[in-house]
Amino acid sequence: MLLILDPQATPETLEALRSGLARLGLSPHMAGEGGTAIGIVGTVSAKAKAELAKLPGVRKIVPVAEPYRLASRVFHPAPTLVNVGKAQVGGRQVVMMAGPCSVESREHILEMARLVKEAGIPVLRGGAYKPRTSPYAFQGLGEKGLEYLKEAGEKYDLATVSEVMDASQLPAMLETIDLLQVGARNMQNFTLLSALGKVRRPVLLKRGLSATLQEWLMSAEYIMAGGNDQVILCERGIRTFEPATRNTFDVSCIPVLREMTHLPIVVDPSHAIGVRDKVIPLARAGVAAGADGVIVEFHTCPEEALSDGPQALYPEQLDQLVRELEGIAQVIGRGMNR
Ligand code: PEP
Ligand code: MN
Repeated sequence: MLLILDPQATPETLEALRSGLARLGLSPHMAGEGGTAIGIVGTVSAKAKAELAKLPGVRKIVPVAEPYRLASRVFHPAPTLVNVGKAQVGGRQVVMMAGPCSVESREHILEMARLVKEAGIPVLRGGAYKPRTSPYAFQGLGEKGLEYLKEAGEKYDLATVSEVMDASQLPAMLETIDLLQVGARNMQNFTLLSALGKVRRPVLLKRGLSATLQEWLMSAEYIMAGGNDQVILCERGIRTFEPATRNTFDVSCIPVLREMTHLPIVVDPSHAIGVRDKVIPLARAGVAAGADGVIVEFHTCPEEALSDGPQALYPEQLDQLVRELEGIAQVIGRGMNR
């Protein structure tokens, strides 16, 4: 619920209000411009509700219909900005992130990082822990992969993003990675989400394979409820009845989420469509619809990639993508973080 405050309330009244809330066991979150309202998250008993109305400085109580509170625009009207290395996601500039699906070797990720830097992209991706459908498929290099990614990021002054599959991997990831990715298959792993709420590192939360926008925002809420408000949402396609593409890119989620939440929205056209030559048109659509960033897979030799080769762009295609997205960003009054 939202407590609308008396605009004439003195600092003393507000202090008394805060103590009143503490007495009722409620924690306040500021909402609205200039402290005109206070948000209360969690369950409030009928008795506490009656007490709330009597607290000094409270003019009106407005129930909030959405079950996600901290992620909602009602509680936080201004857009959230998330710093990933030197890039800022959620502001005027569109941020690109690129790299291989998996970190494959030290030499390879160093070469990929060089190409990412040359393309003017600020964030390098690469999975070290891979959620594969088959237990016989390449599972990632684990901690070695994290070390190689860190080395490549440092050498070329790039921030890094990589997937965390389990809370036990967090200590190693916090040593090495700037942006912690939660994969689609783990979007509702509530133990992992709660663990991420306790760390102070931004999280890239991918949409689950069949998650509604509300379910997705509730997963963001798990992270935020733990105290970590640095969450970026990532649309990566949802499962539909269409077999011609790997998933179906839900471009409509971008403007709809924009109204529901203040969190930045990034798109992943690679996993959304799964077909190399269709990745660029999809990325263009994502930026045109208002995405704050694009994360894309590419490879020096996609035919030999250890995972997701069929959707990996060739390095020349990555350069083409950057140029085209820059043009679209300008047309809609934004720029590209280069
Ligand atoms: C990935 O980024 O390589 C990945 C496995 O993504 P998703 O969880 O979206 O399938
Ligand atoms: Mn992949």
